[in-house]
Formats: sequence, C-alpha cells, structure tokens
Amino acid sequence: MEAKFQELKNRLLEINDLNSAAALLTWDQTTYMPPGGAPARGRQIATLGKLAHEKFTDPTIGKLLDELTSYEKSLLYDSDEASFLRVTRRDYEKAVKVPAAFIAELFSHAAKTYDIWTKARPANDFTTVRPYLEKTLDLSRKYANFYPGYEHIADPLIDDSDEGMKASTVKKLFAQLREQLVPIVKAITSQPAADDSCLKKNYPEAQQWPFGVEVIKRFGYDFSRGRQDKTHHPYCIKFSLGDVRITTRFKENDLGEGLFSTLHESGHAMYEQGICMDLEGTPLARGTSSGVHESQSRSWENLVGRSRGFWEFFYPKLQQTFPQQLRSVSLDTFYRAINKVERSLIRTDADEVTYNLHVMMRFDFELQMLEGKLAIKDLPEAWRERFKADFGIAPPDDKDGCLQDVHWYGGVIGGVFQGYTLGNILSAQFFETAVKAHPEIKPQIKQGEFATLYRWLKENIYQHGRKYTATELVQKVTGGPMSIEPYIRYLKTKYGELYKL
Ligand code: ZN
Repeated sequence: MEAKFQELKNRLLEINDLNSAAALLTWDQTTYMPPGGAPARGRQIATLGKLAHEKFTDPTIGKLLDELTSYEKSLLYDSDEASFLRVTRRDYEKAVKVPAAFIAELFSHAAKTYDIWTKARPANDFTTVRPYLEKTLDLSRKYANFYPGYEHIADPLIDDSDEGMKASTVKKLFAQLREQLVPIVKAITSQPAADDSCLKKNYPEAQQWPFGVEVIKRFGYDFSRGRQDKTHHPYCIKFSLGDVRITTRFKENDLGEGLFSTLHESGHAMYEQGICMDLEGTPLARGTSSGVHESQSRSWENLVGRSRGFWEFFYPKLQQTFPQQLRSVSLDTFYRAINKVERSLIRTDADEVTYNLHVMMRFDFELQMLEGKLAIKDLPEAWRERFKADFGIAPPDDKDGCLQDVHWYGGVIGGVFQGYTLGNILSAQFFETAVKAHPEIKPQIKQGEFATLYRWLKENIYQHGRKYTATELVQKVTGGPMSIEPYIRYLKTKYGELYKL
C-alpha cells in the first residue's frame, strides 16, 4: 500500500509541477513579457496544460485510486493521507468525464473570444462578440451535460469553483440576502452622498506603493515567500507554498484603487501562504473554494482595511506620506470617503453594500441563459431593464453594461460570479467567530497589530487547504451552516453609524 500511495503522490507531484510552470508563464505574460512573446506564450501555456490533463486522466491514476480504496477507509477522515486520496479521487472522477478534445475546443474558443472582447468592449460593440458568446453558452451547456443527473444545469459549473454548492442553495441564500439588502441600499442612497474628493487628488505611485507594502507586511503577507508587481488587472498566483505572488495597479488620481486592491490580493495570498507545508505539491495545497478564497480577500480589504479602528492607527501614517493632500482632511472625512455607498454602473468599482446586487443580477442571468430562458441576443436589453429595476439607473451603453466583465468572455457562462457574494457572506461569518473567540482582535487592529487575527485564520482556515469543502469548513469553524445573518449585522452596524438606517 505504501508503495502504491507513494507512486500516486509522485505522479500528482509531476502534474502539479507542470501546472506551476504554466502559472509562472502566465505571470510573466502579464508582468514583464515583451509584446512579441504573446503568440508563442499562448501555445506554451496550452502545451503544458494539455500534458497535465493527459497525465491526470491517465487510467493508471484511476487504477491506483481503486487499489487504495481500502487503505483510504482505514485512515482518519481528516488525516493528510485520507484527504489526499478523497480530493484526488473527486478531481479525477470529474476530469475523466470530459473528453480531451472538448477541453481543447473550450480553451481555443475562450482565447478567441477573449481577444474579440478586448476590442469589442472599448468599441461598445456587442454585435461582433455575440456569435462567440452564443458558442460559449452552447459549450457551457455541453460541459454541464458531461455530468448527467444534476438538479440544475448550472450545478456542474458551480461545483467547479464552489465545490458542493448547487444553484438551489445559492439561490436560497441570495434571496434571503436580497430581501435584507435592498432596504439598506434604499435607505443609504436616499441620503446625501459622502464626499470622496479627498481620494481623487494627485497621489504619486512612488509613495503609494511602499505604503501598501508596509500595511500588508503588518497583516502577515510574507515577502520572503512572495513579491508584488504591477499588472492591468490585479491578481494572486501561486507557484508553490514558498512562492505566492500578488500584483496590483495604481491610479495617481484615485488613492483607493491601488491601496484596496493591494489589501485584497494580500488576503488571497496569505490564505495560500498559510497552507500547511506538509500538503505541498498535492491537490490539497490550495484554497478550498472561490467563496472561501474571496472571504479571505474581503476580510482583509473590507472588514479590516475599511474599518475605523484600522485607520485610527494608519491614517496619521498616511497623512505623513501625503502631507499636502491629506493634512487638512479629518479622519472622519477620510473614513466616510473610503466607505462611500452609491448606485454605480461598474461591479468592480462598487462599494461593499451595493456590490452584491451586481453579483446577484449576473448570477440570475447565468441561470436564465443556461436554462434557455434568456437568449444571448436579448442580453443587452435584459441587462438594461434589470439594472434599472435594481439600481434605478440604466447603463448608457453595453460597454458599461453586459460587456463590462471579462468572465463570460473568458470561455464559460455559469458558476463564475456566485463566489464573490458567498465570499462577502462568509467573511463576516468567519470574522464574527474569530472576534467572539478573541475579543482582543478589534483593539489590536487599532494598534496596527494583526497577529491574533492572522493566527486564528491560519489555524482555522488557511492551514487546511482543500481538506474540507466550504460547507464542511463553515460547519467546523463556526459551528453552523453558511448564514447571511453575521453579514447583515456587520452592514447594519457599520453603515448605521455612517448613515441613518
Ligand atoms: Zn478576489
């Protein structure tokens, strides 16, 4: 048994190395690669991906898993070995259901569509991208149908990013959240908007960058096992547990952009850096779901980074960094500015309160498109109507309407948006549990101290990687199922102090 287990582990390690090499090529592509490298780079990444897929779907893997079934049953459920076998089996059973030729078609269609979209969005041209999106929907449906027996056609797609979740569970949670959220949004946006002009002065990048670095070092992001570079779209990427990188972008006329995206990505990265080293190189060595991952980025960005206590410590330091811009701006004014709530067109620029309405709308559209109830040709109009109903404003064009997010134009419709709102819900649920266990967390944040919070997250969430599914993890950590209540309590408390609710 030992020898077979070791053989499986070695095979998985090789696959992990191929995927990590592909990730490094991707990182380079978006940071330092000269434009001339693009055509070959796309091919190189695809070749590594293909090799990894072939190695993973090799029948030998299935045979080894079968032979190790009784060994797995003899182990404790949450031991490293049993978890490794359980998660590998789940991944394997999913992977072999999809033919390699279909994966290749999906990737090549995704690359073409993405390329068309990068030109269509600035040109406000939905017509050109429409046939591509129709094919994407067709492929997404075909993909789901490789997993017959689903309750809803979106379920297999949702399961890819939020394992174990279904359209029906997400729908139920979102309906509860919506009911509570809409009156809060209404109450806030009927009051005078916060003045955020203090964030829109000139803030040189040369000072913005080190300030953000100082903050995330204090959070616990380890620069000896990571680094930060610039890209168009900030992200976090891992090559091994000893090398988890983040990227950011700065706008010199908008202080919030670089700062909060830095805090956000550091949250993703600390999760990955915090995974137990014993899991290195195995399928367990990453965050367990898109919702739980997003809960970590949102915790550090919003629950910590947009809290009043945090700025009691950091605002004097920010004023020292930008004396001309902020000397005469009070902490109160600054705090209100970074927590401005408004009905706006763009999801990625949205505040904590209205953000979820953007996500829920996209999630509903995904279900309707997959169900065949919403045709791609009708998407622009459906977007305008729904947006008007939810936000009271209509996007003037498709550029800031249904063309704004890359997700659908990156190759798949379904399962790509729910993680953002699940993340918001979970961030509050985990944070509330942490503060209950360690009431000193909030006073420490006021001192620029994050060690207790970081340790709690590492101990309860980070270290496990994919050992537990999101549902198991929430139960284990909070003692109950996923719930919107802590998130609503958080919003009502925080925004109740800023606005009349
Ligand atoms: Zn994120």
